[in-house]
Amino acid sequence: MNRRAELAANLAGVRQRVTAACRAAGRDPDEVSVVAVTKTFPASDVRLLAGLGVREVGENRDREAAAKAAACADLALRWHFVGQLQTNKAGSVAAYADVVHSVDRTRLVDALSAAATRAGRDLVALVQVALDDDPERGGTPPAAVAALAEEVAAAPRLRLGGLMGLAPLGVDPTPAFALLAEVAARVRAVHPQARWLSAGMSGDLEAAVAAGATHLRIGTALLGERRQPPVGSRR
Ligand SMILES: *Cc1c(COP(=O)(O)O)cnc(C)c1O
Repeated sequence: MNRRAELAANLAGVRQRVTAACRAAGRDPDEVSVVAVTKTFPASDVRLLAGLGVREVGENRDREAAAKAAACADLALRWHFVGQLQTNKAGSVAAYADVVHSVDRTRLVDALSAAATRAGRDLVALVQVALDDDPERGGTPPAAVAALAEEVAAAPRLRLGGLMGLAPLGVDPTPAFALLAEVAARVRAVHPQARWLSAGMSGDLEAAVAAGATHLRIGTALLGERRQPPVGSRR
């Protein structure tokens, strides 16, 4: 099978899983977006996915993301930054990203807001909630989310889109996603526009849809196994 046919088959498989998960949860599949996480795969794959109708693309490292976004600038894609972000990369990310899923501290809010202002761009920012005790995976503790969401909502050129979470590795994701949904409901009570819930990856998208995810971040199920370990795994 050539690469285009392989990606087309994978995409159809993911869409089928999303549709089935929505049906099981009594949800409308139109409420759920798939972000294709293309990290470690070449810009040529992004181009093929775009040809298959994919518009939302995710990356987790600034250097790789910046190069791919530049190589695909003609495709009018929406770039999602999903990885842990150092404040000194905020300027670079604000130049190409439309959405940052991993806002987890005040200094990053300030850096992204300043960078987006300099770039004359608006960024959708999601507050990443820590759903386990692993500091390497990022996120702010559930009890600190309300205050951080307030800071994002007040920051020039940032729009509070909602929340993001990574389920703990190697255990049933359902309790973690339930906690995430509960924190999200509290944030929405104050910020009704913050409707996005970014949760669910290749291995746990069904549980995420059941918990109310609006954005699934899908790598492996679309693109195949990565050669490098994913960021967020223990190395
Ligand atoms: C790599 C990555 C994903 C995609 O993971 P898969 O299991 O390959 O679908 C999702 N979210 C983040 C933050 C990632 O770094």
